[in-house]
Amino acid sequence: MSDVVENFQSQPDTGGHFGPYGGMFVPEVLVHPLQELQEAYAEALKDPSFLAELEELLREFVGRPTPLYFAKRMTEQLGGAKIYFKREDLCHTGAHKINNSLGQVLLAKRMGKTRIIAETGAGQHGVATATVCAMFGLECVVYMGEVDMERQALNVYRMRRLGAEVVGVTAGQKTLKDAISEAMRDWVTNIRDTHYIIGSALGAHPYPMMVRDFQSVIGREAREQILEKEGRLPDHLVACVGGGSNAIGLFYAFLNDEGVLMTGVEAGGLGSGLGEHAARFNGGKLGILQGTKTYVLQDDEGQISLTHSVSAGLDYAAIGPEHAWLKDLGRVEYTAIEDQEAVDALGAASRLEGILPALESSHGIAWAMRLAKEMTPDQIIVVNCSGRGDKDVQELAAWEARQAEAQA
Ligand SMILES: *Cc1c(COP(=O)(O)O)cnc(C)c1O
Repeated sequence: MSDVVENFQSQPDTGGHFGPYGGMFVPEVLVHPLQELQEAYAEALKDPSFLAELEELLREFVGRPTPLYFAKRMTEQLGGAKIYFKREDLCHTGAHKINNSLGQVLLAKRMGKTRIIAETGAGQHGVATATVCAMFGLECVVYMGEVDMERQALNVYRMRRLGAEVVGVTAGQKTLKDAISEAMRDWVTNIRDTHYIIGSALGAHPYPMMVRDFQSVIGREAREQILEKEGRLPDHLVACVGGGSNAIGLFYAFLNDEGVLMTGVEAGGLGSGLGEHAARFNGGKLGILQGTKTYVLQDDEGQISLTHSVSAGLDYAAIGPEHAWLKDLGRVEYTAIEDQEAVDALGAASRLEGILPALESSHGIAWAMRLAKEMTPDQIIVVNCSGRGDKDVQELAAWEARQAEAQA
């Protein structure tokens, strides 16, 4: 981790600001606990035994390093740049989320916390957190909107099997945003013995920085692997962006490599109307949501708007503050892919490569496929395959049924 540890301090500033974004917009009672967390985290990073334990568990429990896989048939079919998949779908529990849950649970243990809370939308972060809690024998409570619980029944079952208590949230729209509010309420009440594991590069400082750091192993590995395989850096990196953790995880180790272009892909949903998508850079405005200042999809009165994506993991009204900053700096470009094109990319990866990616990851793959065609065979794209698609088969079947109906 050492070279990246140095960069840890470069962004954000001590108040957690990435340029005008980020910060710590929380109720008074949370200011001190967040500062404690910040200090504990800074100390942990200086402790070789903490880093060694993290590294060992990433290897033995998560299954790292994940491969950097050359998608040969996809590359040949498109006839342009070489496409490599960073295989985060091969992480234990099926997505990159466990890199962060593991790091944070180690930190919680170090801080003497005995109880872990989390919130989850699609259930992937809940499953990853329930998994690491089981491994350490920690109490785990996961908040989840009741609508999401119905949509993601399989993951609810997995979490309960792993010993977590899943609490259904009935407030508001009964989805992720409401689950986050409940988790915050719990944290305020039980701050003494409880750590709150946020699942993406979101929330108040130090979460966006900390989650990024724990996910940055993705890019460190990919950088080493591409140098080994190709003897040079890639021309372009691509990743889907929900809160932004798998994307910043891939990008971070390359930010200083000027020749490496980067694109973050948001959920274009069904179209560009407010409520039809989750592309915060395509209609979002500066606002504050759940502790951080960033681009937020909201109406003219500042009410958080509904969002839509075929992939639950990209379906959120705010984007991580560091991405807002990277966009302003022009270091990363952001774009959007609509539902149908993501579903098509999932089909292409499955048929051509024998890899059934998550619907979230398929947004990135769809963009990589577009890019590859415009590039030359001596160029290289690395796309983050952030998770596997097993969790999505029900959603896919429903999608296909709706298509068939519309055509009939
Ligand atoms: C949760 C999730 C995402 C979106 O979250 P980020 O924090 O933006 O990475 C993307 N892919 C998969 C497979 C997920 O589970």
